[in-house]
Amino acid sequence: MTTARLRILVADDEPTSRLLMAAALSKSGYEVSLAENGAEALRQFRAQPFDMVMLDVEMPVLDGYQACVALRAEFGPELPIVMVTGMEDTASIERAFEAGATDFISKPINWTLIRHRVKYLFRAYESLLELRTTNARTTAILNAIPDQMFELDMDGCYVDYQPSHQESPLTPPGTAIGSPVTSILAAEACDACMTALHQAYETGLSTGQQFRLDQPQGTSWFELSVSLKINGAGRKPSFIFLSRDITERKEAEQKIARLAYFDGLTGLPNRTSFHERLAREIQRAQYKETKLAIMFLDLDNFKNINDSLGHAAGDLVLQSVSDTLRLAIRPSDMASRFDSEEKGASLARLGGDEFTVLVSDLERQEDALVLARRFRELLRRPIQLEGREVVLTVSIGIAVYPDDGETAEALLKFADTAMYHAKETGRDNFQFYNERLTQKVMQQLNLENSLRQAVERDEFFLVYQPQIDMQTGRISSFEALIRWNHPELGLISPADFIPIAEKTGLIIPMGEWVLRTACAEALKWQASGHFMQIAVNLSPVQLKDPGFLNVVKHVLADGLAPQWLELEITETLLMENSKTILVVLAELRALGVKIALDDFGTGYSSMSYLKHLPLDTIKVDQSFVKSMTDDEESQIIARAIVALAKNLGYSVTAEGVETLEQARILNSLSCEFLQGYYFSKPVIASAIPLLLKSAVGWKEKISTPELLKIS
Ligand code: C2E
Ligand code: CA
Ligand code: CA
Repeated sequence: MTTARLRILVADDEPTSRLLMAAALSKSGYEVSLAENGAEALRQFRAQPFDMVMLDVEMPVLDGYQACVALRAEFGPELPIVMVTGMEDTASIERAFEAGATDFISKPINWTLIRHRVKYLFRAYESLLELRTTNARTTAILNAIPDQMFELDMDGCYVDYQPSHQESPLTPPGTAIGSPVTSILAAEACDACMTALHQAYETGLSTGQQFRLDQPQGTSWFELSVSLKINGAGRKPSFIFLSRDITERKEAEQKIARLAYFDGLTGLPNRTSFHERLAREIQRAQYKETKLAIMFLDLDNFKNINDSLGHAAGDLVLQSVSDTLRLAIRPSDMASRFDSEEKGASLARLGGDEFTVLVSDLERQEDALVLARRFRELLRRPIQLEGREVVLTVSIGIAVYPDDGETAEALLKFADTAMYHAKETGRDNFQFYNERLTQKVMQQLNLENSLRQAVERDEFFLVYQPQIDMQTGRISSFEALIRWNHPELGLISPADFIPIAEKTGLIIPMGEWVLRTACAEALKWQASGHFMQIAVNLSPVQLKDPGFLNVVKHVLADGLAPQWLELEITETLLMENSKTILVVLAELRALGVKIALDDFGTGYSSMSYLKHLPLDTIKVDQSFVKSMTDDEESQIIARAIVALAKNLGYSVTAEGVETLEQARILNSLSCEFLQGYYFSKPVIASAIPLLLKSAVGWKEKISTPELLKIS
């Protein structure tokens, strides 16, 4: 605005005053128009607006007040209107402001000062206009952006706020001005606001402070931009807050993170995220000097499910497994030491059927064991899949920081090694990785080599353990058990070498040798008049071998009638639920050979399923017989297992009978056959005739209570 172009309208009924005013203002460079009264002033203004109007109070037709009111009403609040009043006339000054005047000048007028007065009025007018523009712009901007604005003072109390377009959790109610945010917003929002406020106080600006609000309609995220507002001399500064709802962005970010860090099928953290977490946890453990365990889980026979039921079913299994594992590590469910997110276990899926669990702040290695047991237990519960019950088992390898290794790579490798070891030792178990374990692996490699030569070198022999028929009290059967006489290591337990034989395939020739030798032995017994059954253990590997049925036929061709041969199979084999195996079993039975289910009670096949299997005998596992005399609870469980086996309609043999008491309980449960150290340890073939001679009186001993005998 340049003075040259500013136009002033002067209304005064007194010609002298008009002229003097015109002269004074023109000299200062303003363009002046004159009017004789208020009505004339209005007319002129309407014809062409002016930048300022000076109105004498007393005028004919329309006086100054009336003209002022009319001009205000018509041309808005900004127009500078100056009333010219009588000297010291307080009443008229008041009236002038009431009428909407911007300022007043009292008569007599100091003509030298008037131009300064006008200049300042214009300057104020200019500032006002500028402010209006700025305000309009700010309002437009605030309306155009989704952000919400509010102003807080140093203490975090509301000074002002822009009413938001939508309902927002950050919009304080109308009464909020003067109240602290802490009395209005949720704690998380307050913390973020105050942090940003302090930052802005120090640096003038704070951006990027985020916080989340959990509301009934869902979780929202906000981001704050805060700038310091200087409020003039002697006054405390305040802070302009812009808060933006970034929920959508946050959700998108989270989705991206999920894709990069989580496994799509199960929603568990993936390999990448596991590696990062492991690295972090190792650092933390190093710093805090704590231990941590890595558990490597691999499902047993998952490939089988995938192959036989299809990938969709396989996916369902994996989802179910991940749910189960989640449940198992849920802090609330765990023993008190796993009670917080930090001091707990975290789960990940590495791919396929491999899962990992990281246990931080491990106090003792045993703690990892507790968790491993828990996994096994929970996973053991059958899951329903396309109308079938599938039972899963898992092999778990455990490596511990810093005992086993100090880097993520080493620990992972060792946990993996330990898992393989768990698989080798019969699956469905867990193993620690440690020095001894490594040695064991080396030893096994050596064993593997000597095992290859053992068949040729004729280092195997059989021992036989009798089974007592409780109806007659006599030996009705012998179970053949293999022994290996290692040239340097001496006698080696089958538990140690059978898994290796299975892995290497040596079990096929070895198993054939056992079958042939055992049947030949039974034929010898018959030759001396003892018609007794021979029971031979079978490895799942043997049964899966396509040539197996022929092997049995060949062996029987040597003369033993099939009804004297019983083949012992394990439950894990049946769990695989393969049609071919069921067919082979049925064919064996069709030959007249008997099938016994070994170690009953240690597997997890559903009982109803067992009922329809091609079986003759069930052998109740030793563990149940052992626990029979422990505490009451174990006794109830043991009794139930025996009763159940009987109820399935098969003949029942109890294994591992070591005491008279156990034998009596089993007898009272009508268990037909008993086997165990109480009767005899496994003996070499040449010891059998003597054993047969001495094996008498068991029936009486077991069925006659001691008390009766004494009386
Ligand atoms: P299994 O089939 O459950 O055999 C019973 C095991 O329990 C035998 O151990 C036997 O000596 C032992 N035992 C018998 N009565 C008692 C008792 O009263 N108390 C205790 N504590 N133990 C008793 P062994 O001979 O060491 O065999 C271990 C496992 O190795 C067998 O378990 C079987 O699964 C496997 N095995 C043995 N021989 C063969 C074989 O020729 N072929 C195959 N495939 N596996 C075999
Ligand atoms: Ca057996
Ligand atoms: Ca057994």
